[in-house]
Amino acid sequence: MFGSISTSRVYVVRCKRCQRDVPAGLPAFPPGSVTVLCSLCGELRRYRSTEVYLGAVNQIVRRQQAAKRR
Ligand SMILES: [Zn+2]
Repeated sequence: MFGSISTSRVYVVRCKRCQRDVPAGLPAFPPGSVTVLCSLCGELRRYRSTEVYLGAVNQIVRRQQAAKRR
């Protein structure tokens, strides 16, 4: 059931509390710091742009998003 979204890359940050890659919810690379709410543990934290990178989100997040899409 992977397929279409498995290769999609988005801007992610590594949550400092749960150490998972969560989507930063950004359309483009941020010029400064951003505040990201972790969709896994609910940690609201500020990240510097150097901590934001283009990657794949954690499998758990992907599963959550897939569930929400229904
Ligand atoms: Zn987290």
